[in-house]
Amino acid sequence: MKTLILRNKFELEKVLNSIKQRKINFIPTMGNLHEGHFELIRSAKKHGSINLVSIYVNPLQFNDKKDFDNYPRSINKDLKYLKELKVSMVYLPEKDFNLTNTSMIDLGEIVNKLCGKNRKGHFEGVATIILKFLLIIKPEKIFLGEKDFQQILVIKKVIKDFNFSTNVKTVPIVRGHGGIALSSRNQRIKNINNLEKVYNCLIDIKNKIDEDNFCIKDLEYFKKNLVKSGICRVNYLEILKESDLSELTSIPSKCRIFISCNIQGVNVIDNLGLKKIYLKECGQLKISS
Ligand code: AMP
Repeated sequence: MKTLILRNKFELEKVLNSIKQRKINFIPTMGNLHEGHFELIRSAKKHGSINLVSIYVNPLQFNDKKDFDNYPRSINKDLKYLKELKVSMVYLPEKDFNLTNTSMIDLGEIVNKLCGKNRKGHFEGVATIILKFLLIIKPEKIFLGEKDFQQILVIKKVIKDFNFSTNVKTVPIVRGHGGIALSSRNQRIKNINNLEKVYNCLIDIKNKIDEDNFCIKDLEYFKKNLVKSGICRVNYLEILKESDLSELTSIPSKCRIFISCNIQGVNVIDNLGLKKIYLKECGQLKISS
């Protein structure tokens, strides 16, 4: 089947209304596609026949206008890849959303954590546009990457709070050379070594936890080491519970190490899943047996 390129919501709705069994797998992206996005598409294709990729650089989720302007765009290359992957539909909603004085979603506590702290309004912007997408597309499934782990929790909240029946499917982080988490923004970073340092930091912490040799206060040491090694700024380095990004407790829980750095003016995020762990009174992290 030929890939349909739909340039506005009228074109999209016309096609969606013509489908008898409307079971759409939706893969939202901001374009400049790479292997991480392709993995989401491959996963969607395994789940059903109709897949819809959106490409939209969402202005509402940028708290810095310069970052929005500099966001890498490569629409012709993206469309070529999507055709090669035999994606059913590509939706380009460039002018479909009313963004002037649009109602915004209030997400509560989740925005006070991790990326929400240094990117004010970011998740409200993500959630608002996702809501607009959900209302138009009404997908059966939505495919999201674990690279943006907090975003998954935000989108799950929107789906639940607004009574959508969309099922969330998540895909592990796709990594490149040296373990670097692939990202559309990586091409703006000249020294690739700095990206490897971020991944190595996560692996070092995980190894120490596995060796029973890690205290929660050691995070400060790892942060300082990154800055000493030439990373401009570490926005956060935290270990939190996967379910709601709350702090570790004495109750064993699935947890993750989360990091955000600023490298040459580019925001870089990554995370790494851990086994079930708990916090001892002395601050040591223990793997639950
Ligand atoms: P973006 O285009 O950056 O908004 O990302 C679109 C989707 O692709 C989101 O669900 C991301 O989490 C996912 N994604 C981006 N990079 C990766 C990666 N390296 N591995 C897995 N998923 C990714």
